[in-house]
Amino acid sequence: MSWKLTCQDAADGSGDLVLELPDDLMQAAGWKVGDVLELEGDLAHGGAIQLKKTVLCDVCGAGTVETGHGVLEARWRDGECEGLCLCKVCFDYAMATLRREHDVRHLFDEEGQ
Ligand SMILES: [Zn+2]
Repeated sequence: MSWKLTCQDAADGSGDLVLELPDDLMQAAGWKVGDVLELEGDLAHGGAIQLKKTVLCDVCGAGTVETGHGVLEARWRDGECEGLCLCKVCFDYAMATLRREHDVRHLFDEEGQ
């Protein structure tokens, strides 16, 4: 899907442009007010641009555009859902911590059990 939108001058002397995103685009893309978007493309020469939602790490706040992000998520039987979006550094830390905890808990297990 694509939309043709017109950028408007911010009219504050900064030279910035304002791009108003219509509700149907926001809904189709799954974006909500407050999301941070990355812009790719050549806006200065009238070319097509691509907007991608930037996922910020819930722990350290780092952007995840270059590396992608990991998700630690629970969907409990009572319908409650909770989760964290994590940058690579925080995800690796969480995984290493859980693996270390597993190793400690099973340190004296007999092999093959
Ligand atoms: Zn992080």
